[in-house]
Amino acid sequence: MNKTINLRPHHLLCISFFKGKGYSNEFVSNMTSIVSALKENKDTPISLVSGEDDLCTHCPNNQNGICTAEDKSSRYDQLTLTALGIDTNSHSQILYSTLRTLADERIINCGKRESICGDCQWTDLCHKQ
Ligand code: SF4
Repeated sequence: MNKTINLRPHHLLCISFFKGKGYSNEFVSNMTSIVSALKENKDTPISLVSGEDDLCTHCPNNQNGICTAEDKSSRYDQLTLTALGIDTNSHSQILYSTLRTLADERIINCGKRESICGDCQWTDLCHKQ
């Protein structure tokens, strides 16, 4: 069994468009490792979390476990979950492959991404795969 990765729901979108840019060198290095691990093993179990996840742990915006933009990050998480049709109370872990398919079909490929996180500072990087 692969090690479970904790992810905030909206980070499924960030992972999809990641191009080696981010908040700091440490953040980018950690995100690069997680993105390549998920690409190599799509059957990695994911825990969808409502706060600090395995990307936040290396982010300079993480202040003692709380995101300095928590209001915005939580809004992105809620909108992502609604679009995916996932109730986190009924799922403790979901395979990355399942989440990837849902996020691609229900958000990215149908052009919904900007309605979720179009006011993010990185949005210009996310217009193309
Ligand atoms: S701490 Fe905030 S800005 Fe940093 S990765 Fe987590 S949600 Fe994103």
